[in-house]
Amino acid sequence: MTAAAQGFEAVFGRPAKRLAEAPGRVNLIGEHTDYSGGYVLPTAIPQKTRIEIAPRDDGLVRIATTNVDGGAHLSFRAGEEARRGLWIDYVQGITAVLRQRGVAVPGFDARIASTVPLGSGLSSSASLLVALARALRAMLDLTIDDVDIARIAHAAEHDFVGAPVGTMDQMAASLADENTALFLDTRTLAFERIPLPAQAELLVINSGVAHQHASGDYKTRRAECERAAAALGVPQLRDVDAAAEPRIASLPPPLDRRARHVVTENARVLAAVAAIRAGDLGRLGELFDASHRSMRDDFEVSVPEIDDLVESARAQPDVFGARLTGGGFGGSIVALVKRGSATKVGRAVVDAYARVPGRRATVLVGGLVP
Ligand code: ADP
Ligand code: MG
Repeated sequence: MTAAAQGFEAVFGRPAKRLAEAPGRVNLIGEHTDYSGGYVLPTAIPQKTRIEIAPRDDGLVRIATTNVDGGAHLSFRAGEEARRGLWIDYVQGITAVLRQRGVAVPGFDARIASTVPLGSGLSSSASLLVALARALRAMLDLTIDDVDIARIAHAAEHDFVGAPVGTMDQMAASLADENTALFLDTRTLAFERIPLPAQAELLVINSGVAHQHASGDYKTRRAECERAAAALGVPQLRDVDAAAEPRIASLPPPLDRRARHVVTENARVLAAVAAIRAGDLGRLGELFDASHRSMRDDFEVSVPEIDDLVESARAQPDVFGARLTGGGFGGSIVALVKRGSATKVGRAVVDAYARVPGRRATVLVGGLVP
């Protein structure tokens, strides 16, 4: 066992002062819409990042994580944050953004322990950022509300880490819970918690595929959306709806397909909220399926392994619908399953996937997670 795995006191030789947590998330529908100012519908998952923290009076920030390289330690001086291209950038991002906002961040020791799988599309990054911002809020008695925590976490990831992400993940980590879906307007950050249907459960299965160029492809998609919006003469793709279809169709490829995904996906989020409210699981499942087709064919962020998982889930009885969740190019699928059936469906999908040599999928949420 590494030092980092032994708890705060074993690592730092004194007890922690505060403890904070934040969950990972799974997005039900509304993918690649957040950086176009659109709608999203994530919910919190049981996995979370837990941070124990205690202040120091010498300006040094020392961080231990149990989740990288079997346990790792890095440090920096508060006020001397500089991007290193390493996991510590997420920590430096939070302290740098707080300082920009006028908070005198002292040195501290912190121990990170997360059960959110890293890089699987369940937002371990936002879970870490929000947990740390909460830990510092508690340690320094800051008056910052949960939307502000999400804004700080977003600025840390977007501006300091340098990932051109939208605001969904940080808002979900800060505001979502496991019993409701967070219906979020990413332009205004207005949100509403929609109770999840009692007759269904969510099943999340990781494909085991982590695309090497995911961040580069993500940037390309974001740039394509910005070009499509400019060509349509609007600030963001959020500003066009189905009525713009003929103009979207006349955009040069692939901008036509990219814009069509975002516009139809926004409409699907609104339809999904209506379906949940009406208790119409069949309709909600159809929307999952349509969202997957749109991500696969129009936005082109799926991969064959993910398509196979989605098809195999859809072929199971008791499955209302299934889709790629998260940014894509690998990662995980989410399926909407009749309550009580997730264990059986998960096992069948994982077994079918393993029939292709070298493929191994893992159930991350739903039923009896192994
Ligand atoms: P996702 O958010 O989908 O899990 P990202 O690529 O956005 O994937 O974020 C993963 C990165 O976040 C990791 O490579 C690491 O740098 C950082 N990270 C997340 N959780 C932790 C953790 N518990 N300890 C250290 N770094 C973490
Ligand atoms: Mg992330």
